[in-house]
Amino acid sequence: PSELLCYCRPGFERDLAEELADKAEEAGWSGTPLHAAGDGFVRFALPEGESANALHRALPLHGLVFARQSLVALPALTLDREDRLGPIVEQVVASGWSFESLWQETPDTNDGKALSGLAKALARPLESLLKKRGALRRKAGGRRLHLLWSAGDVVQLGMSFPGNRSEQPGGIRRLRFPKAAPSRSTLKLEEAWHEFVPRSEWDTRLAEGMQAADLGAAPGGWTWQLVHRGMHVYAIDNGPMDRALMATGQVEHLREDGFVWEPPYRLDWLVCDIVDKPARVQAMMERWLVRRWCREAVFNLKLPMKRRWPEVEVCLGRLEAALAAAGVAADIACRHLYHDREEVTVHVRLRD
Ligand code: SAM
Repeated sequence: PSELLCYCRPGFERDLAEELADKAEEAGWSGTPLHAAGDGFVRFALPEGESANALHRALPLHGLVFARQSLVALPALTLDREDRLGPIVEQVVASGWSFESLWQETPDTNDGKALSGLAKALARPLESLLKKRGALRRKAGGRRLHLLWSAGDVVQLGMSFPGNRSEQPGGIRRLRFPKAAPSRSTLKLEEAWHEFVPRSEWDTRLAEGMQAADLGAAPGGWTWQLVHRGMHVYAIDNGPMDRALMATGQVEHLREDGFVWEPPYRLDWLVCDIVDKPARVQAMMERWLVRRWCREAVFNLKLPMKRRWPEVEVCLGRLEAALAAAGVAADIACRHLYHDREEVTVHVRLRD
C-alpha cells in the first residue's frame, strides 16, 4: 500500500491535507494529498514503491490535529453493482493482509449516512467470504480492516493497528448529553478528557477536592463537568451562571476579565472556552503555564479563518517554544474533537 487514508470533519479537508503535507515533509517524506471539499476524508499518496506503513508510524494519530482516524490504505475500488464483494475479496487476498475485525464506515456526511444500510447488508456475506480465504481470523495482531464507502459503488480499504488508531467507528466519540448540564458545550470538555486523560488515571487526575478555574465559564457547561468530578471551581465570566450549578456550593463566580485574572494559589486544572483570537488565548495560557499556576489545562482555539492549519501550527509552536525557553517541561497535544466545530482543543500537562 502506498497511501494513507484519514477521516476528518466535512469542511476540514484542506486543513488536514495541509497538516499531513507539512508533517510528512518534516519527517522526510514527499507525497500528495488528495481531497475534495466536503468529502470528510483525505488521502495522502506516496510515490510508487514507497510504503505507507512507515509514514503511518511516523505520523501517529494522537499527534495529528485534524484527523479523526488514520489508516494505511489500498487504491480505491470502483465496483460493479452486480458483484460488489468479489473485487473487495480479491484485493484483500492479493494484499496479503489478515486481520481480526472488519468495520464498514462512511464519511460523516449526509450522502455517507445514506450508505450505511448498504454497508450493513454486505457485512455478513463479506465476513464469511474473508474467513474462508483466511484473511479474517483470530490472532492477527489486533489489526482491523476498514471499508470506507464514499458511494454505492466506490469503496476504499484501509488497515488500522492497535495503539495508533481511534477505537471509535468513524473516529467519532459519541457522548450522551448529561441532562443536568447547562449547555451543550459541556460535551467538548468531557470529550477532551476522554481524549487526553487515560481512563485509568481519571481518579487521580480528575479527582474530588481538586481546585480548578474556568475562564469564560457562563452558563457553566464546562464548570458542570469539573463540579461533577467533585472539584471546586473559580468560574470567571461577566455573564450569568446556571443557578442549580451555583447551588452546589462548589463554584465561586467572579465577574472578572479572564485574560487578567490571577488565581490565589496553584490550581490543579485550568480550562478556557473564551471566544477570542487564538494568539491572544495562547499568550494567556502561556503566562499561566510558565508561572505554573496550574498542573493541567484544556483550552480551545477558535478558528473562524479560512486557513486553519497555519494558525494552529503558529500558536502551538509559540507555546512550545515559550515553555522550553522558561525551562518548563510539558506535554502538549491538540485535536479537532468531534464536538468541536470551528475550533480545536489543546491539552497541556506539566511534568514535574
Ligand atoms: N464553556 C461554556 C459552557 O460550557 O457553558 C461556554 C462558554 S462561551 C462559548 C464563552 C464565554 O466567554 C461567554 O460566556 C463570554 O461571556 C465569556 N467571555 C468572553 N470574553 C471574556 C473575558 N475576557 N473574560 C471572561 N469571560 C469572557
